[in-house]
Amino acid sequence: MTNSPFHSDLLDGKPLNGVPGRYWHALPDGRIQCDLCPRYCRLQEGQRGLCFVRARQGDRMVLTTYGRSSGFCLDPIEKKPLNHFLPGTAVLSFGTAGCNLTCKFCQNWDISKARDFDRLMDQAPPEAIAEAALRSGARSVAFTYNDPVIFLEYAVDVAQACRERGVKSVAVSAGYICEEPRREFFAQMDAANIDLKGFTEDFYRKLCSGQLQAVLETLVYLKQETGVWFEITTLLIPGENDSPAELEALTQWVMEQLGPDVPLHFSAFHPDWKMTDKPPTPPETLLTAWRIAREAGLRYVYTGNIHHPATQATLCHGCGAALIGRDWYELGTWGLSDDGLCRHCGTRCAGVFDGPPGHWGRRRLPLRLGPANMRDRAPLA
Ligand code: SF4
Repeated sequence: MTNSPFHSDLLDGKPLNGVPGRYWHALPDGRIQCDLCPRYCRLQEGQRGLCFVRARQGDRMVLTTYGRSSGFCLDPIEKKPLNHFLPGTAVLSFGTAGCNLTCKFCQNWDISKARDFDRLMDQAPPEAIAEAALRSGARSVAFTYNDPVIFLEYAVDVAQACRERGVKSVAVSAGYICEEPRREFFAQMDAANIDLKGFTEDFYRKLCSGQLQAVLETLVYLKQETGVWFEITTLLIPGENDSPAELEALTQWVMEQLGPDVPLHFSAFHPDWKMTDKPPTPPETLLTAWRIAREAGLRYVYTGNIHHPATQATLCHGCGAALIGRDWYELGTWGLSDDGLCRHCGTRCAGVFDGPPGHWGRRRLPLRLGPANMRDRAPLA
């Protein structure tokens, strides 16, 4: 499939530079085809793929954003959102530029649609990122803000550097990736939040120029073939993906294919990017979705981007006791043992729990990665 509006210009009139990219092959007609994501961009010399960060340079594919970041921030892990992965801890978040989907409702469009690479900091080698996480007290590093599958080579190297230092890696992704790179990418991840943007092919085609089936395959792969802890987020857009029938189909699919323990987050849309004609999601829509998912049998369902502690708490599916209370990103009630058992009845709560909860709270702290900053900075958590 060749559905990309290629950019055949050189970047700012300068030659393209990048590290060798994986997952491509030469075509008989002289083009090369990227096999990283289901767009399968076919490139002539000097052209970029739709994601903008992978490009043809000579007779090979390169990644043009290796080692460069759009900035770092210490966030609560709950903000990714991950509610069952080391709750209360800080995560070192960063992204690069570009994206392989074209969601009209993008909530991070300034980064994902970035064409100005000057906004990327030049110095972000994998080891420095892992060391920054260690020094700041973050338990994990998150590839977020834009989809990390498009900078696979960089994300994999960062994740390996983190693993060597006992820091976990988290992917925040739409899961739009082909089978072989999917294996390499997720082999290095400890946790993921996968955007399931809607539950019809029409929605993906019309609003994201993508395919639902590829995302569903990633979700089933994660469940059946990996130990990656993952949660799902669906942004509910009024009139586009929020009908009760679609939500019933989505939640029943999750229940049947992934089981009751995969957390599902419904979050509120705010008008942004190319979709400013829709109103924000009414809280009632999120609560209806929450109820539909619970009735489908899912044990861990959450609302997001609204203040509603009752649908943001984790309850024990054995006895109904409150296990984790949340007020925005701040933890309240804690009813779990250090290894994730309900203190009332002993039922295991699905997820990754390691000791008492963290105390990072709701803070969001920008972080510079320069050597001087790293040398001077005292541990933050
Ligand atoms: S990763 Fe980028 S270049 Fe490769 S197929 Fe996807 S959009 Fe095209």
